[in-house]
Amino acid sequence: MTRINLLSQRLANQIAAGEVVERPASVLKELLENSLDAGADRIDIEAEQGGVKLLRVRDNGSGIHKDDLALALSRHATSKIAELEDLENIASLGFRGEALASISSVSRLTLVSKAVADSGESAWKVAAEGPDMVATLAPAAHAQGTSVEVRDLFFNTPARKKFLKTEKTEFARIDENLKRLALSRFDVQFTLSHNQRVIHKLQPALSDQDRQRRVALVCGPAFVENSVSVDIEGPGLRLWGWVSLPTFSRSQADLQYFYVNGRIIRDKLVAHAVKQAYRDVLFHGRHPAYVLYLELAPAAVDVNVHPTKHEVRFRDSRLVHDFLFSSLNRALAEVTPSSRLDGQAASPHFANTNHMESNSDFGFGQQSSLSLRDSSYGQGVRPGGGQYGGAPVSPERIQKQLAAYARLNADDAEIPPLGYAIAQLHGVYILAQNKQGLIIVDMHAAHERITYERMKTACANEELKMQPLLVPLSIAVSASEAASAEAQRDVLLRFGIELERVSEESLIVRQIPSILRDANIEQLVRDVLSDVMEYGTSDRIQSHQDEMLSTMACHGSVRANRQLTIPEMNALLRDMEATERSGQCNHGRPTWIYQSLDELDKLFLRGQ
Ligand code: ADP
Ligand code: MG
Repeated sequence: MTRINLLSQRLANQIAAGEVVERPASVLKELLENSLDAGADRIDIEAEQGGVKLLRVRDNGSGIHKDDLALALSRHATSKIAELEDLENIASLGFRGEALASISSVSRLTLVSKAVADSGESAWKVAAEGPDMVATLAPAAHAQGTSVEVRDLFFNTPARKKFLKTEKTEFARIDENLKRLALSRFDVQFTLSHNQRVIHKLQPALSDQDRQRRVALVCGPAFVENSVSVDIEGPGLRLWGWVSLPTFSRSQADLQYFYVNGRIIRDKLVAHAVKQAYRDVLFHGRHPAYVLYLELAPAAVDVNVHPTKHEVRFRDSRLVHDFLFSSLNRALAEVTPSSRLDGQAASPHFANTNHMESNSDFGFGQQSSLSLRDSSYGQGVRPGGGQYGGAPVSPERIQKQLAAYARLNADDAEIPPLGYAIAQLHGVYILAQNKQGLIIVDMHAAHERITYERMKTACANEELKMQPLLVPLSIAVSASEAASAEAQRDVLLRFGIELERVSEESLIVRQIPSILRDANIEQLVRDVLSDVMEYGTSDRIQSHQDEMLSTMACHGSVRANRQLTIPEMNALLRDMEATERSGQCNHGRPTWIYQSLDELDKLFLRGQ
């Protein structure tokens, strides 16, 4: 029988290290958090060989008192909390008191520090040795602050060492962790060098402009150019930061930084709220990019949920979810052509199609299915009567239009953000000119969004107007389609479609939403029915209401190869300006792009 014995200090610490010290990057995270907790505003990091050979963090923080140095390296020793209640209102990043002990048990760690309060001239150096991790102190030279040097990580835990990746990969993770912390504290200067080469030098960023510059350095300039900044207060909550325009989406969820009271976290609830906010505007399968800060009373979050503190628990998770969702949803809805063009920085240049990571699947999957549908029933759209389709144009309207064009070249003219249409290209795009340049609009995509937003509003206000068909339409369907149409008759009515089952395999459509009067009704009803079948019960249909409306909107929108008159095109441009989320179609594709005269000049090498 094996007897029980007490583990040595080192072994106990090594076991604890298993949870928090996974790789050099996790060491860096702990050291940086300590420096920030010590109030440093300048932190220099040196790494060698991906941080495995050496990781040194030097700060100008408050330092550690000589008499506390040995304690700093022992487990369950912290200056950050003293009793359980302190955990409730924790303002520091650390509190578990085990990082230094853990790291020190799996590497050769030395700590040099000079505390503000220390009277003596000299700084002190400490290292813990042997199975009992006995600390030895010696005088050293150091300015006020602390340096922690971690050499030969995992030299004594070969099993762990085997899990390390290449130097390049390990350094990439270090770099990522530095970025996360650099975005959490704009007021702190950070430098990072790898194998004696300076990789980052981030100056303290105190103004809005400087903060934006740091975000651009860390996340890339394209992110800043294609994002909107938010700053919203709620009940005891504040959310601020930057969120990408839906058209600047990514194939991976890799540009997502979310901070709760300055601590970066990955949280399901947060991810869900953000995803919901983008649901209507993001291209299928793509991920938004964001840098967001949530601030709330420390007592409203529990940070002691996970050893690495990557997760938190909100006391009122429902409130947080709703606040995040509604704030972001609003921010994205409010991106109008004029706000995008005003803040030139956030204007969707042609160039941003490059930033959109030309992932081969982007755009094409969805587009081809759209055009398939186009060809199958696009012809069915009847001319005349439609909003942008062949309505007779009054002479007065033409006069007004002409006057508007005459004003275009006058300097002081009030020109709408999306300008005035000048032509239609291949029946697909509208070319328009505004004050600064050229606007190209995908007319189907744009109209689809406008119709969709109108239907959403109408549906929410229960005023989706119905229009009886002069000749009721009979449609042959499968028995199961007919059965579900019959079963969900009331639901369909709410969506403005009145139909009746007349036999085992046929339906008669009597009324449709008047907004869709120009659609190919048979195809529309078939598609809506297939949604109904997919979503099954009626309350699930209700929760997929937006998707159903989106399907319907797609049918009610101008098809490709439809000639529009100039006044019709202008009407569409004006509607876009007035519509929420008009920058993307229902599938998340951009509806318009812009190229300034300056950019055009560059293309033609003018003035160079
Ligand atoms: P924790 O951060 O959870 O308190 P650590 O093991 O990371 O635990 O650090 C132990 C203690 O050492 C801290 O509570 C702090 O008092 C001190 N300390 C560590 N690093 C620094 C630093 N860079 N500057 C000042 N004090 C430090
Ligand atoms: Mg710590």
